[in-house]
Amino acid sequence: MADWHDYLDKASAFHGHLCSGQVLGIRMCLKGLSLLGLSPDDNLRDLMIFLETDRCMADAAIVVTGVTAGRRRLKFKDYGKAAMSFLDLATDRAVRVAANSEPHPGHDLKDVVGFWEAYSDDQILSWQNIRITIPPEDRPGRPLRRVPCQQCGEDVLDGRDAEIDGRVLCKACAGQAYYTSA
Ligand SMILES: [Zn+2]
Ligand SMILES: [Zn+2]
Repeated sequence: MADWHDYLDKASAFHGHLCSGQVLGIRMCLKGLSLLGLSPDDNLRDLMIFLETDRCMADAAIVVTGVTAGRRRLKFKDYGKAAMSFLDLATDRAVRVAANSEPHPGHDLKDVVGFWEAYSDDQILSWQNIRITIPPEDRPGRPLRRVPCQQCGEDVLDGRDAEIDGRVLCKACAGQAYYTSA
């Protein structure tokens, strides 16, 4: 059984500091994995993680599981919540783990490890079995579709294109750009 203390050095180094987010992220991952019958030492190539935060604990999740964005297995669902879900594609089982709103230590907490050691998992975390449906075009593996945008000419993979007035367009050309020209 993995112990959260084992990951503190690695998480701190990757993230840049030791913080409550690292502790909680590590403990959430170990809890999620164990609920799925997995451990960080297993081959986790069928694991997908859905991060409901883009803050500190997101980095801990990457360190503990080795799951990265470049293999389509790390998804950001920015709900601004201290929570993450774990999906085992091999079994289709999924579990969501969230941090309870209390305790809520300040940013100037000196003894991060000591503070969190006082709490058991069920005091600081909540979890539930869930179902996550992954459309074929969102699954890890080779792209199912690749089309050039008929306006900008850039290739669009994985069905992210849209047909507008009979033209196949990327999201940006379809008016959904997150940027504007400068
Ligand atoms: Zn942090
Ligand atoms: Zn385009």
